[in-house]
Amino acid sequence: MKDRHLTSFTGMSLEELQELCKSIGEPVYRARQILLWIYKKGATSFEQMYNLPERLREELEKKNLLFQTEVDTVAKTIDGTEKLAIRLFDGNIIESVLLRNRRKVTACVSTQVGCAMACSFCASGQLGLERNLDTGEIIEQTLHIKNHLHQNESLTNIVFMGIGEPLANYDNVIKSLKIMNADWGLGISMRHITVSTVGIVTGIRRLARERLKINLAISLHASDDSTRSGIILSNKKNSIRNILAAAREYFRATHRDISFEYTLIEGINSSVQDATALARLLNGIRCIINILPLNPIEECELRPPDRKTVEMFCNILERNGMVVTLRKKKGDDVNAACGQLRLQRYKHGKRYKTRKTGGGNHPLSFA
Ligand code: SAH
Repeated sequence: MKDRHLTSFTGMSLEELQELCKSIGEPVYRARQILLWIYKKGATSFEQMYNLPERLREELEKKNLLFQTEVDTVAKTIDGTEKLAIRLFDGNIIESVLLRNRRKVTACVSTQVGCAMACSFCASGQLGLERNLDTGEIIEQTLHIKNHLHQNESLTNIVFMGIGEPLANYDNVIKSLKIMNADWGLGISMRHITVSTVGIVTGIRRLARERLKINLAISLHASDDSTRSGIILSNKKNSIRNILAAAREYFRATHRDISFEYTLIEGINSSVQDATALARLLNGIRCIINILPLNPIEECELRPPDRKTVEMFCNILERNGMVVTLRKKKGDDVNAACGQLRLQRYKHGKRYKTRKTGGGNHPLSFA
């Protein structure tokens, strides 16, 4: 791996950028000027920031401290979903998805290269974990998506549902949430940001203590520990009972309803009994259940149930007083399930982990 770079501007808070400006003898107000260019005017290079002195622009451009990622390819679907493969400074590829749903424009971002959680049905974990993304690498995904929107569109929502487990990269996720929310940053309301977790109990508790008004989604996928442990390895350390206790704590701290993700898998978790058990389990918790039929991956023989079973499952939950949404599959034809694109590229040896060539791509430190 290449030498680790300094944090890019996209990974910095206003205060950090102000400090940096001071340290290089620039007035503090430059920080806001630069942030305005990045987050409001869509600048992708310092050259475009014409109200900065030329000497400073050249210096910053040489040091390459702005974007340290680039869009490699974009796959489009007929439903308007677009999947961006994004190349990192070390050649790794991650993926981010742009979803359009009426007036809602959502960026789905990755938090890690690979994933250590090893859920049997998920493509992201098939190659294990390579590394965490830094704050700038998370933020740049949203900027690439923003720069990719049509003129009359604006980014309204962000979901942390791409590759990786957000709560296993806690500090970078929290910092990026704050940048997404900040008035000098993306300016997106916390209520329009969702963090999805496999259910890391210590992480959920810690997040509750932050008292951010974000939505918490928990990937439950089963209502008993033996079924859940069969498909989600991390369940052995985080039992359903402890996850639900942490979820209640999260609700008490934030007053935000919890979302439970439930991927329906044929023969595993989609029977009448499973639906009844799920309703019983979640009874009394302020929540929404998001049902998602499995998007099958090649590496695993698990399949989604038929449409009738999916409907039956949702009906039982509703009859038991649950609030249910059936997530329509989006972006199937571009393999939009978590981590599929990265896995495919790896298998087909498509420039996975190639290094950028030539000088100038190596971000330098100010020191
Ligand atoms: N690590 C986080 C975010 C990952 S992906 C988490 O576990 O929540 C977001 C959601 O997609 C999770 O609920 C995950 O279980 C689900 N998912 C992953 N692969 C899937 C597939 N092939 N079909 C359906 N849902 C999938």
